[in-house]
Amino acid sequence: MAGSGKFFVGGNWKCNGTKDSISKLITELNSSTLESDVDVVVAPPFVYIDQVKNSLTDRIEIAAQNSWTGKGGAFTGEISVEQLKDIGCKWVVLGHSERRHIIGENDQFIGKKAAYALSEGLGVIACIGELLEEREAGKTFDVCFQQLKAYAVPSWDKIVIAYEPVWAIGTGKVATPEQAQEVHVAIRDWLSKNVSAEVASKTRIIYGGSVNGGNCAELAKQEDIDGFLVGGASLKGPEFATIINSVT
Ligand code: PGA
Repeated sequence: MAGSGKFFVGGNWKCNGTKDSISKLITELNSSTLESDVDVVVAPPFVYIDQVKNSLTDRIEIAAQNSWTGKGGAFTGEISVEQLKDIGCKWVVLGHSERRHIIGENDQFIGKKAAYALSEGLGVIACIGELLEEREAGKTFDVCFQQLKAYAVPSWDKIVIAYEPVWAIGTGKVATPEQAQEVHVAIRDWLSKNVSAEVASKTRIIYGGSVNGGNCAELAKQEDIDGFLVGGASLKGPEFATIINSVT
């Protein structure tokens, strides 16, 4: 079963940029011609969201890179879903491998954030993916299913699943189209068995991990790859536009 959702491309800027470099990137994005049949989202660092919101074309929606598990209050250093909505965010990236493996977030914590963000109307880009040693031990599907299960959310309408093998993130070692397709099919199958056939066909499953202007076209041809989550290459406007326009 292939996905039926619109192609979706997210740019995850991570902890990169300055006012000046972001202003240059916005200018590049505003002057790019983008395929109309693609949902495009960028996730700037929190401190630059307002700058981006005020000068980036409305054609591109804004995501946050994290959100808190519930209402705001006495949670030093956190940002609430309500605050994100207040400044115009429509999405949040959750479960990214850097937050799992560098910051130490676990499935339960991530699941709680996702459920709260969805309950407040934010879209969630829900990341999953295995480590190299897990892949080598033949545990790729087990790890992905375990992480998926933790997104035990009431509704899958506003979730995009990002499959991002950890060994491919920021390493220049992209998964082959066949490797990515194999896991995407398994994820769709898991959704079909554990949620519903309808959710399985409608949910966008995007690939992330060293996607660039050179490898995106081959990946995009795969039946179950419904878009990309892009890190490094999303910091270069023309290259990010090439990736967006790789929709087939
Ligand atoms: P990368 O990052 O494209 O730089 O590998 C992808 C991601 O972390 O989402």
